[in-house]
Amino acid sequence: MPDAATSPTRTTYAELQHVFDVLNRELFDGQLPACLMTLQREKSTLGYFSFNRFVSSDGGGEFTDEIALNPTYFARIGLREIVQTVAHEMVHLWQAHYGEPGRGRYHNKEWAAKMEEIGLMPSHTGEPGGRKVGQKMSDYPIDGGRFLAVFDQLATDAFRISWYDRYIAIAGQLGGVVVAELNTPGVLVMPSGAETAPKKPTRVKYQCAGTGAAVWGKPGLSLVCGETGQPYEPVSGYAPRSPLA
Ligand SMILES: [Zn+2]
Repeated sequence: MPDAATSPTRTTYAELQHVFDVLNRELFDGQLPACLMTLQREKSTLGYFSFNRFVSSDGGGEFTDEIALNPTYFARIGLREIVQTVAHEMVHLWQAHYGEPGRGRYHNKEWAAKMEEIGLMPSHTGEPGGRKVGQKMSDYPIDGGRFLAVFDQLATDAFRISWYDRYIAIAGQLGGVVVAELNTPGVLVMPSGAETAPKKPTRVKYQCAGTGAAVWGKPGLSLVCGETGQPYEPVSGYAPRSPLA
């Protein structure tokens, strides 16, 4: 029987928990409550935070938050950005418990200030000079900042992520139209057949600019609003979203 102690599930989640614990201790004074980390493949998203997403089945009314990570990007972004993504989502977790989060997915000034405090510079482009607040936000490590110091410490402890998703979205194709295949870490194999390409969206949201009314349908439909005579324009289904939420 295979050894359950070394199962990929146990290994992977222990590694993610280790990242959370080290960042919590070193960057948040250990004040963050535990959460449930998940792996998911929400399109064009490196990770997201969801407050009180889970409820305990023991009937005590206990909730816990979710930090979700997308393994599709792990090999492409590398270890430092995986850890950076966890830290970004942990600032959302910190804010949900100790601050005042912006509405919806808005990253407000308080969030941005906490990011800088832990050594990550918020930037809507992910590059120096970007806006520090907004709906779609990325970040980069501050030279000489706390995040990089903690990451260096993590990395010298021979820490690693053991399992990498073999199907990787190619840069510039965040909509996931093209994927490459990983057989050995660092070796990308471009897809030869259609079977490695993810499905295109089967449903698209169309909206009338006049009334704001929306309908869902197959891609490529030509729809006209009976009220205003204006065409319904596709508003989602193809549009790539920010890689960070
Ligand atoms: Zn965010």
